[in-house]
Amino acid sequence: MENPERFVYLDNNATTAIAPEVVEAMRPYFETKYWNPSSMYSPALALAREIDEAREKIASRLGAERADEIVFTSCATESNNAALIGGLKAQIKADPKRRRIVTTRVEHPAVLEVCKSLEKEGFGVDWVGVDRDGNLNLREYVRALRPGETALVSVMRANNETGVVFPIERLARIAKETDPKIIFHVDATQSITKAPMNLSATPSDDSLSGAFGNVDLLSFSGHKIHAPKGIGVLYARRGTPLSRFMIGGHQEKGRRAGTENVPYIMGLAAALDLETAAIEENAAKMAALRDRLQTALEERVPCLIVNGKNAPRTPNTLNVAIYGAEGEAVLALLSARGICVSSGSACTSGSLEPSHVLSAMQVPAGALQGNFRFSLSRYSTEEEIDLAIEAFVDVVAIVRRTSSKWDDAKGEPIA
Ligand code: PLP
Repeated sequence: MENPERFVYLDNNATTAIAPEVVEAMRPYFETKYWNPSSMYSPALALAREIDEAREKIASRLGAERADEIVFTSCATESNNAALIGGLKAQIKADPKRRRIVTTRVEHPAVLEVCKSLEKEGFGVDWVGVDRDGNLNLREYVRALRPGETALVSVMRANNETGVVFPIERLARIAKETDPKIIFHVDATQSITKAPMNLSATPSDDSLSGAFGNVDLLSFSGHKIHAPKGIGVLYARRGTPLSRFMIGGHQEKGRRAGTENVPYIMGLAAALDLETAAIEENAAKMAALRDRLQTALEERVPCLIVNGKNAPRTPNTLNVAIYGAEGEAVLALLSARGICVSSGSACTSGSLEPSHVLSAMQVPAGALQGNFRFSLSRYSTEEEIDLAIEAFVDVVAIVRRTSSKWDDAKGEPIA
């Protein structure tokens, strides 16, 4: 991938570079095939068939049984809103007693804020916590499921800040065994193509196999997998209660009205193809580079905590917390050296609010303000990782030298 600016981009959980193959796959739909796929003349009808083919390709890559289980949206935020609000509405329509959602304290705002807003409107939300490593508290989860009352469960597969992976296979099985009418929704935005997944396979055990046969709704977006921003998917298993969420024309079988974003649909299909074909190879490459970064930072930066270190994690994410150096100052100096990383999530950075994810994991207060997320892609190189290591070690030392919270002589935080 060309990098004319020669910066080191390690913020791939925020967004990714568009793959050149994806740009090429989209090009004809910008240049010549600009038809509205709902029109009735032959090139438009052919275009509608091409969308169907892309939908089939995506369904097959996800292991979905039917192409019409794939609904195109504009982003994962829209897919999450549609799943939560559309699922809850449909459940209440069928049974007014089903008014509760179970979710976790560490979800992305695209789920968390929807749940908070539903809570304010009078719906019940049961929030499940995590342990020090970011693993879900299973006992709390089981207690939160209420037969006859829980309408929907929404759990992310991989955390955007720490990369910690939740055991969706097991959580979905428990939900269905508790009450088969519960809708199980997964925000898969950070795990898609980073871990295998099959929506038709039913787990025979509780391993992290990606056997998602008990999952009803699943969200993700293109821009985390080298497709453009502005395209997302909501997978909706056939028969899942779901109210319409964008009302208007007949597109997406009336579930999501609006003229299809044809070039981006084609881009998403191409990106999913590329990424799933090389899933293991990419994961092994990213994990090796992430581990190189992690080991070096643990060795060379005193008092550094690796968040989620003992939990299963996506191969591309490293989240560290350090004492005695504020995120903002470190990020600014890193940026001046061309290193792009983030503090907290893309949505919480820019504010001094500590991350809700790290707070839920009970990261010590002294280290909460110095929190950094390095997220790699398949384009990341060893050279880039080594540049990031040198820059980070150096910048942290500089910031700590003038920090009122760090004793430079002793090499430890001031209590
Ligand atoms: N869910 C998770 C876990 C995410 O990491 C993100 C984006 O960072 C989103 C949802 C929102 O995605 P989008 O930007 O496509 O709306």
